[in-house]
Amino acid sequence: ENLATAIAGLSAIDLQGFSVTIPHKLAIIPLLSQITEKARLVGAVNTVWRTETGWQGTNTDVDGFLAPLKSLDKDWSRVNPVILGNGGAARAVVVACAQLGCGEIHVVGRNQKKLDPFKESWANTSLYDLLEVHSWDELEGLVSTTELLINSTPIGMSPQGEQSPVELELLDLLPPSAIAYDLIYNPRPTKFLRLAQTRGIRIIDGLEMLVNQGAIALEIWLGQPVPVSVMREALLKQF
Ligand code: NAP
Repeated sequence: ENLATAIAGLSAIDLQGFSVTIPHKLAIIPLLSQITEKARLVGAVNTVWRTETGWQGTNTDVDGFLAPLKSLDKDWSRVNPVILGNGGAARAVVVACAQLGCGEIHVVGRNQKKLDPFKESWANTSLYDLLEVHSWDELEGLVSTTELLINSTPIGMSPQGEQSPVELELLDLLPPSAIAYDLIYNPRPTKFLRLAQTRGIRIIDGLEMLVNQGAIALEIWLGQPVPVSVMREALLKQF
């Protein structure tokens, strides 16, 4: 509740930048002099740095999410991602998929009262027309046509490692060239990804997103490239 005082304190000691996490990702915004377009679209800031005119904020989760996808040879305009969950991380994933150039973006959630405002938050942006929100009972119809199925719910996260947001019968409907992407990084791989793997589906877990969102923040603060592989190794050591 003393966020403004804390930020003033960081200014006073000449700090160059800092990370922001739950529950301050939204509350920090009015305390910054400017935010990037990316942070504005996501609606949350996770990285702040000092400029001549005051603090500036951005959201590095978007590019963190994109990092393991960028090297893949895919025509993203023909990929219509299906995102499970509509919480904070899903917002960054939606913005990332729009940035990739995906034709349609489908978000599946369990609570209609949250799904509608989720979509409405992008009214008056180019993203609005790309986005469709769905209830879980529509998932079966979506899975068979998607090349990218993303779990942004905590289902399957340790200590509930034996759960999966999608059962094998549904994963069987995925096209063979599809990618299953789980934002969860503990356990690695999650049950969702293990099931997808048994069907020969390419999998991506949340470790690369975690490493890269941090690396991008460090690059902003230092103003120079950082050794992502060293950061990845350090993180793996922690796990
Ligand atoms: P969040 O804001 O709490 O959102 C979670 C979403 O999942 C909500 O839409 C929630 O629905 C839904 N959900 C939760 N339990 C569910 C269930 N049993 N069935 C159906 N839907 C369910 O959390 P978040 O910040 O978006 O994080 C989501 C996951 O992503 C976490 O596992 C987190 O660790 C991971 N993550 C990873 C990275 C990374 O760098 N790899 C970064 C960010 C997040 P309701 O709103 O109805 O509850």
